[in-house]
Amino acid sequence: MLTKLFINGNWEDALSGKTFPTINPATTEVIAHIAEGGAEDVDRAVQAARAALDGPWGKMNAAERAKIIWKMGERIMARADELAKLETMDNGKTITESSRIDVPYSADLYFYYAGAATKLEGHTIPVNGPYFCYTLREPLGVVGLIVPWNFPLLLASRKVAAALAAGNTVILKPAAQTPLTAIALAEIGMEAGLPPGVLNVVPGHGATAGAALVKHPGVDGVALTGGTATGQQLMRDASNTVKKLHLELGGKSPNIVFADADLEAAAKMALMGIFYNKGEVCTAGSRLLVEKSIYDNFIEKVIERAKKMQPGDPMDPKARLGPLVSAAQLENVKKYVALGEQEGARLLVGGRQPEAAPGKGYFFQPTIFDQVQPNSTIAQEEIFGPVLATLTFQDGDELLKLANGTMYGLAAAIWTKDIKKAHRLAKEIKAGTVWINTYNNYDAAMPYGGYKMSGFGVESGMAAFEFYSQSKSVWVDLS
Ligand code: NAD
Repeated sequence: MLTKLFINGNWEDALSGKTFPTINPATTEVIAHIAEGGAEDVDRAVQAARAALDGPWGKMNAAERAKIIWKMGERIMARADELAKLETMDNGKTITESSRIDVPYSADLYFYYAGAATKLEGHTIPVNGPYFCYTLREPLGVVGLIVPWNFPLLLASRKVAAALAAGNTVILKPAAQTPLTAIALAEIGMEAGLPPGVLNVVPGHGATAGAALVKHPGVDGVALTGGTATGQQLMRDASNTVKKLHLELGGKSPNIVFADADLEAAAKMALMGIFYNKGEVCTAGSRLLVEKSIYDNFIEKVIERAKKMQPGDPMDPKARLGPLVSAAQLENVKKYVALGEQEGARLLVGGRQPEAAPGKGYFFQPTIFDQVQPNSTIAQEEIFGPVLATLTFQDGDELLKLANGTMYGLAAAIWTKDIKKAHRLAKEIKAGTVWINTYNNYDAAMPYGGYKMSGFGVESGMAAFEFYSQSKSVWVDLS
């Protein structure tokens, strides 16, 4: 198993000699000890990335870059089984999710951005006076990419593929809980033909390796997917070097069910909205807002399905819910469940670690609360676990206040057969993504980003190049 830092095309120990363990959350056993990157390793990686940018990668044309990026997608698919197993072992997500979603979607991102690399264009712009004016679209430069543990390969790929397509060089810092597929990605880049220094991978902790990337004067921009508090820290740390940032942060997304919806479909997807990837999803539909007139009937359907969804060994293809990623995350979820009960919400399902859980892993039951007060903690804060807060609404005004009533604005879903109502509400909701009669859809071509404290900047699709490239204006005097 690969466990080292990848800097300038070489596998390296940390200069400090330190390592940290990565743990299988289904068994709590140590999978491997990983080289722990520190500030001095980040510095080496930045120098390698700068040299590659000024050297072979910077001189390569877009069509050549595109071929390498496409090949990365092919190599991911060629190693799909191995990557899916690594992801499930490191994160605890079910093997079905890893192999059907995380791995193929990661490959898709390389296929999409291979195509995009040759479509990055400037403009010619008519101006006053005898001038010929045009813009050039240039790479941002050396970029730091910091990703969380919930979709390790997928979220790394969303950033790496777009960054490479725009001609940048990269230092990728995976989350300390889940470094394995990011390290494998370094090898995949090498197999595909990336020159040394173009993609460096430095596993390590946020406060050390992560902060060093953000503060480093040789890094031109940092893209983070992580918690809102981490995003705030990045804004402070980036201010000294006026570094360009792209922040994909937390969420508390409303999943709204009207009385006129297809209630079977809405119930099925309410579960998928919150329990997919054990609720460790930034866009989790963690607030279920149901029209009062159908509430009793609807919640019965949701409860019935949730009871059947018991956690199981994530390597078992039949398992639908794996363990939470870490002991810390399990404690966090327990803390919120206790708070929910203290604050007077009614626990309908779950709320505990399952007694029949396989092994001694960090399993937690699918959990549903109702009678949740809109301003209570479990209705406002991101739990990032399999905990659903259910609220009801009587009319449109009350609904809109509830839907927009948190500091977040990442996603929302609307279930109704009334087209006008759906589109009107899609416009009124303050969120970066709105699903109508569906949930949790993503595509490499579709822009994705947050409103409010869910962050700024957009990734996926061509919109990602707003961050990964910069526009230069050129004036030519024709007089
Ligand atoms: P986190 O913010 O603790 O960590 C995310 C990454 O940031 C990790 O690699 C971590 O090491 C690094 N980091 C932490 N502190 C840092 C610092 N001071 N400087 C630089 N880097 C630092 O988040 P997490 O617990 O790994 O992941 C869960 C969070 O991520 C949730 O809030 C979730 O909503 C969010 N998330 C958002 C999206 C999205 O697309 N908006 C997607 C997935 C997860």
